[in-house]
Amino acid sequence: MTVARSGVVYLVGAGPGDPGLMTLRAVELIASADVVLHDRLIPPGALDGARDNAELVYVGKRPGSPQMPQEEIERLMVERAGAGRSVVRLKGGDPFVFGRGGEEAEALAAAGVLFEVVPGVTAGVAAPAYAGIPLTHRDDASAVAFVTAHEDPAKDGSALDWEALARFPGTLVLYMGVKRLPEVAERLVAAGRDAGEPAAAVERGTMARQRTVTATLAELPAVASAAGIHPPAIVLTGPVAARRETIGWLERRPLHGRRVVVTRARAQASGLAATLRALGAEVVELPAIRIVPRLDSAEVRDAVQSIHAYALVCLTSPNGVSLLFEALAEAGRDARALANATVAAIGPGTAAALAERGIRADVVPERSIAEALVEALRDFNVADRPVLVARAAEARDVLPEALRERGAKVDVVALYETVAEDPDPAAIEAAHDADYVTFTSSSTVRNLVAAVGDRFPGRARVVSIGPVTSEAAREAGLDVDVEADRHDPEGLVEALVADVAGD
Ligand code: SAH
Repeated sequence: MTVARSGVVYLVGAGPGDPGLMTLRAVELIASADVVLHDRLIPPGALDGARDNAELVYVGKRPGSPQMPQEEIERLMVERAGAGRSVVRLKGGDPFVFGRGGEEAEALAAAGVLFEVVPGVTAGVAAPAYAGIPLTHRDDASAVAFVTAHEDPAKDGSALDWEALARFPGTLVLYMGVKRLPEVAERLVAAGRDAGEPAAAVERGTMARQRTVTATLAELPAVASAAGIHPPAIVLTGPVAARRETIGWLERRPLHGRRVVVTRARAQASGLAATLRALGAEVVELPAIRIVPRLDSAEVRDAVQSIHAYALVCLTSPNGVSLLFEALAEAGRDARALANATVAAIGPGTAAALAERGIRADVVPERSIAEALVEALRDFNVADRPVLVARAAEARDVLPEALRERGAKVDVVALYETVAEDPDPAAIEAAHDADYVTFTSSSTVRNLVAAVGDRFPGRARVVSIGPVTSEAAREAGLDVDVEADRHDPEGLVEALVADVAGD
């Protein structure tokens, strides 16, 4: 017997929308697939991990044009697998919950194609959880029913047994129920379900702009329509819906529903972006600059060779720290090369980067700004002593000038330069509808404004990390709405949260 060289089809659930709710198995399979056939309702970035040469086929609905017919999707899966390729059929939520995954598996079985099913977190479970509604509760509900309210309008009568649903002793979770909500509520009540029962509709559950409305079952249609609730939404009815009042959490986070643009270089953005996301913000990463190391310049090599001779070494950014240590390592040296020097960091972030490498900075002003470092070094005698300022190429000269005035022999060494990053058009589009744009340095302001032009920043409020960045923003024609008191990313987040809260 010969073993067919047929590929495998994976029917994979992508979860309800939050990328963090994709399973490890889903992520792994997407990364190794030859072909991915996907729907519309998949998490943003779900396909980012796919191979560069993978064939990505959108098989969902497009506005104005019909969905690819089901037989065509099934034919594609069978054909690609038959050609020996590994196929991921990626579906929103769970593939076997109202997703026609059952039909697709049957077609694969009929064609003799090997397949696997990878469950996903279904919207009917995830959206209520993110809305703070437990589907079961010891006091309120010991059963849950998943129901589809979508029906072929051409069909005669209704496939749903409204009496049975009205009698059902537990929570009813309705998929595809927004359009038919008035009819669903009316029929349930007519069949005997309590009109005053707590109910909820969760729009875009687990996604950045999730919205939830609650009302009694009888009033929910009017409340949802007044709030403009649109698909995709989960509707649920049952006493557990009232528990949202206590348990609701997502929509209470300080930055929930706010779109915030992060303009830092991609290499540095992740910390700030993660903090903002944890506070509930929808983050758009629109890096305006990129960091280009300059470690092979003669000035860097000379400085590293003679670093033990400096009385004072000043570092002005976490990037500078990591690149200085890279340069040391390339020269076969390590932290001990700084053993004799006084080490000054411009602020807590830079000091933390030093501490990670075993150096406790001797001088750290609280405000991360050159003027503050000059002030903090007031009592340090630099007259006639060699000082190293290791920094970005385009930094201001406040620090070296002040030290030279005090008689220091200052070497200024550029460890890196920042160059403009080509902004991603999709990120620019998303940024136009932002609530906040954050700037963490003058170079991000200048480069972003140059790249995006005068359509920027729309209605967004501009948040700056400190006075130098604010000045650059004003020079670029922007109004600065919020300026951080502490000039580091944590300080910026604090100021942004205070602005949202209206402090
Ligand atoms: N297989 C999917 C359901 C597909 S049917 C799953 O397991 O989740 C499509 C319906 O799912 C939508 O009409 C809506 O009712 C629901 N849905 C999907 N994603 C949703 C989301 N993020 N928030 C609320 N409802 C969602």
